[in-house]
Amino acid sequence: MKTIAVLTSGGDSPGMNSSIRAVVRACAHYQIKCIGIIRGFSGLIENNTKVLSTRSVRGIINRGGTFLYSARCDEFKTTDGRKIAHKNLKDNEIDGLIVIGGDGSFTGALKLKQEFNFPVVGIPGTIDNDLHGTSHTLGYDTALNTVMDAIDKIRDTAISHHRLFLVEVMGADAGYIALNSGLAIGAQEILIPEVNMSFENLINSLKKSKKSGKTSSIIVVAEGDKTGKNVFELASKIEETLPKYETRVSVLGHIQRGGTPSCFDRVLGTQLGVKAVESLIEGNDGNMVGIDNGKIIFTPLDKALKGKSKINKELLRISQIMNT
Ligand code: ATP
Repeated sequence: MKTIAVLTSGGDSPGMNSSIRAVVRACAHYQIKCIGIIRGFSGLIENNTKVLSTRSVRGIINRGGTFLYSARCDEFKTTDGRKIAHKNLKDNEIDGLIVIGGDGSFTGALKLKQEFNFPVVGIPGTIDNDLHGTSHTLGYDTALNTVMDAIDKIRDTAISHHRLFLVEVMGADAGYIALNSGLAIGAQEILIPEVNMSFENLINSLKKSKKSGKTSSIIVVAEGDKTGKNVFELASKIEETLPKYETRVSVLGHIQRGGTPSCFDRVLGTQLGVKAVESLIEGNDGNMVGIDNGKIIFTPLDKALKGKSKINKELLRISQIMNT
């Protein structure tokens, strides 16, 4: 390995910068040239690159977003697009590529490996935490804390006005953010895509809480939950069924992606960045580098893809005990 390239792809997440910094500094440590690809796979196709020196990554460990910028690139989904990307990798004499991103980015990385036998390593960078082979993805911990802070603030107004708030959080296919933030803020109910809580059960839960003397409640709803068509329709249906409830909806949206990365995400990003470089040097490629019980582990990219990770339903059960 004489030259390693790094890119960030898909949705940005806090901690990506810590990882880029670690890749650059680990390359310098092992006397490997490091090239940054700008705007993910788009940059690979457009040959938009810059050499990254140790000093070029100063002052980024504490910044959210990604210093290399990110993009969604449809052209890379085509064989022709990937041929151009591979040619640019070769022309730049790049020997290995580190892809920081989520499920889609890993699918793309895997194709580079399968079609051109090009050495790739993935670093899980997504707030959704929906990848198999790591207990935490980069940005997930920060996003949880952002959501928790936001809902704590919403609770102040919910209590003051005796209101029921439905708070929608990110998670089109996975309920990790909803489940863990919901538990942390003491949600009345947590609605996630993995478990279908019927509308009837939801209403029963609200009736029960009213009876027990609760005057305000918060329901955390993952984007992909199917209890209603969407969070607004669900809120209207609740108000129709329980007219005594004054219901409000809050969609947290993109604030969940931004902000200063937490200590956990900075440490994780640093560890994963160094390990990704070391695994390319050792010829251990085609994997995602992740963490499990504090240990760094490697999972083949095809096994790391989403849908294969399992939500901890025990947490849902515990949340229900809290609402007794
Ligand atoms: P997030 O979890 O934040 O959405 P992601 O990595 O899953 O991140 P995607 O938008 O799904 O984000 O994918 C990022 C990029 O990966 C796409 O824009 C595309 O360039 C590449 N990619 C996705 N799917 C494929 C595929 N099937 N084949 C080749 N490349 C793909």
